[in-house]
Amino acid sequence: MADELALWSAWQNVHFNHSKTKVMFVHKKRLITTPILKIDDHVLEFSDNLKYLGVIIDKKLTWKNHVDSLVGKSLSIKHQITILMNRSRSNAKLKNCLYKALVEPKILYASEIWGSALSKKTYKDKVAQIQRNFLKMITSARQTASSKKLLTITGQMNITDKINFRMECYQKKKEMIQNNVSINEMNIWKKQQKLHHKNYIKEEQKNTFPSYCIKTELIELADRYSTQILTGHGVFATTAIMMNKPIDIMCCLCKQEIENAEHLMFRCTSLNTQRSIFIDQNQVIHVKVSNLMKFKNFCKTIIQKILSTRRS
Ligand SMILES: [Zn+2]
Repeated sequence: MADELALWSAWQNVHFNHSKTKVMFVHKKRLITTPILKIDDHVLEFSDNLKYLGVIIDKKLTWKNHVDSLVGKSLSIKHQITILMNRSRSNAKLKNCLYKALVEPKILYASEIWGSALSKKTYKDKVAQIQRNFLKMITSARQTASSKKLLTITGQMNITDKINFRMECYQKKKEMIQNNVSINEMNIWKKQQKLHHKNYIKEEQKNTFPSYCIKTELIELADRYSTQILTGHGVFATTAIMMNKPIDIMCCLCKQEIENAEHLMFRCTSLNTQRSIFIDQNQVIHVKVSNLMKFKNFCKTIIQKILSTRRS
C-alpha cells in the first residue's frame, strides 16, 4: 500500500511530508505484528489516534479521545465566559446565547459520525455533564438542582437526545438518497422533525411547572433568586436537610408547613400581600412580560426573608 502511495504521489506530483505522515490501523483486535511501512525509505510512524477534519479517530473507533477533547475544550470556553460575565452584568439570556453559539456547535460537530460513542454510559455521562455544567452557570443554579428543570428554564434540549436526533436524521437522509426521494420531500420531513422538537420543549415547560402560567421566556426569569424558587433547590429547609444539615423542617416564616419553594411561592401566609399580584383564585401564578421584574423581586424577597429570619 505504501508503494502504491509513493507511486500515486509521484504521478500526481504531490509530496508527502514524512515527519507529518502517520499510519493508523482501524481494528477491534490486538495486532500481533505491526508491519513496517515506508515512503521513499522513510519509516512511517504508527499512531493510536489521528485528527481528521477536527474529529479525533482512534484505532478501535471508541471515540474516547474525541469525547475527552470536547470536555477539555468546553472547560476552557466556560472559563472564558465566566471571566467575561464577571466583568459585565450577569445575564442568563446572554450566557445561554453564548453557550448555543460557542459550545453546542462544537459538541454537535460531526456527531452523526462519533455519536455512536453515546451507547457507552461513560461517554454519554461525560457529554451530558458538559451541558449540565453550563446549565448551572447560565441559571446560577445550586449543585443539586435537577437537569430536567434547568433544561426547561433555558429552553434547551438534552444534548445527548440532540445527538441521537442528528444521527437519526443522517440515517434517514442516507435512506432517502438511496430511494431517490426528492430534496423537497427531504426538507419537508426535516421541518416536521424540527417542529416536533419545538412543541416538545413547549410541552416540557407545561409539565415541569404546572402551577405557573408563564407568558415569557423562562430564561428571562433565571437569576440567583428566581432559579432557587423554580428549581426548588436553594436556601430552603428541604434542601438543607437533603445536604444533611441539622435544621428545623417547618417554615421559618409561618411555622405552619414544611419549608420548601412550593410552600413559599404558593401558600406561606407571611407572603400573602406580595403574592396577591401574581396568584389567581385557582392558585396559579401568572408571570408575563409586564410583571417580570416584580416577579423576580418577589423571589428575591422570599430568599432574603428566609435568610434574615434564620440569622436572627
Ligand atoms: Zn411559611
